[in-house]
Amino acid sequence: MYPRAFEYHRAKSYAEAVSLLSELGEDAKLLAGGQSLIPLMKLRLSTPAHLVDLNFIPGTSYIHRNSAVSLGAMTHHAEIAASADIASIAILHDCAAGIADPQVRNVGTIGGSVAEADPTGDWAPVLMTTGATIKTLGPAGRREIDIHDFIPDAFTTALQPGEVITEITVPLAPDRSGGAYTALKRCAPVYATASIAVQLTLDDDQTCSDLRIYLGVLGLTATRVPAAEDALRGQSVTDQAIARVQDAVLQAAEPVSDMRGSADYKRHAAGALAKLALQAALRRARGEQVEVSHLYA
Ligand SMILES: Cc1cc2nc3c(=O)[nH]c(=O)nc-3n(C[C@H](O)[C@H](O)[C@H](O)COP(=O)(O)OP(=O)(O)OC[C@H]3O[C@@H](n4cnc5c(N)ncnc54)[C@H](O)[C@@H]3O)c2cc1C
Repeated sequence: MYPRAFEYHRAKSYAEAVSLLSELGEDAKLLAGGQSLIPLMKLRLSTPAHLVDLNFIPGTSYIHRNSAVSLGAMTHHAEIAASADIASIAILHDCAAGIADPQVRNVGTIGGSVAEADPTGDWAPVLMTTGATIKTLGPAGRREIDIHDFIPDAFTTALQPGEVITEITVPLAPDRSGGAYTALKRCAPVYATASIAVQLTLDDDQTCSDLRIYLGVLGLTATRVPAAEDALRGQSVTDQAIARVQDAVLQAAEPVSDMRGSADYKRHAAGALAKLALQAALRRARGEQVEVSHLYA
């Protein structure tokens, strides 16, 4: 189906995008990669009268690595997956490389994904696990918002009218820390059935000093699993301890049955993903290079 007719505006700076949004009002939408917005417009689920294109603003796609990693909002998933600066922050690489297929990854942006706040999207659980900050520019100036406050609900963000995401900042994990993100999918160009993000920090080769675990896809937002974290924190990372984490994830997951599978299937998928992610995170925390890819079933 064709979208409703709209007027196209090409912003030359974020400041211009902000003033265009303020001027054009509620009927205007920002256009980044268009990978979520254009399908919604074609289905007439979104019918903006004005599109403000961010794609021609210089200097909005970048990856800077200093004491943290800064990702320009218009950075494509594929650029993140291919970046040498990201290769050692394995959890970010796992996420970017696993989104959909090359066509979507080459055009879709991290800023657009965060703004969309789709509960089945891949970035939210990863950015919550890593403690990311979302930087914005709006009519009232610049803001820095913790990712947990930024996405309070499905398809809902803390963005105010006229506000644009400019950057996502991810703090670097401490030494002897490893992260992993994995998901179960039916095939590449679809959203996941279940996903999990894990960041594990070791005191020595066997004792977990810190653990963060977020489930993706199974709720309205990414969900932290404190009981699973408590099952391992301060403990040796043995197969038995990992089994306890798996069990806690199984207990905590509250999926609903839908076309992607029954609630029970998704709960067991989350448990299996927890084991795979933890095993990879442990090896990475020990300095090993480990490939993690999504599972297809
Ligand atoms: C076939 C297909 C499969 C997909 N599979 C997956 C998947 O497995 N996992 C996954 O995570 N995603 C998936 N996606 C979505 C993809 O990751 C998109 O890139 C992402 O959801 C939106 O990014 P975008 O740059 O395309 O944003 P757009 O579609 O252009 O915009 C999305 C929304 O964000 C707003 N917006 C965009 N940029 C900004 C900004 N800087 N500041 C404020 N608001 C902004 C727009 O106004 C719009 O409301 C898939 C998409 C398709 C078409």
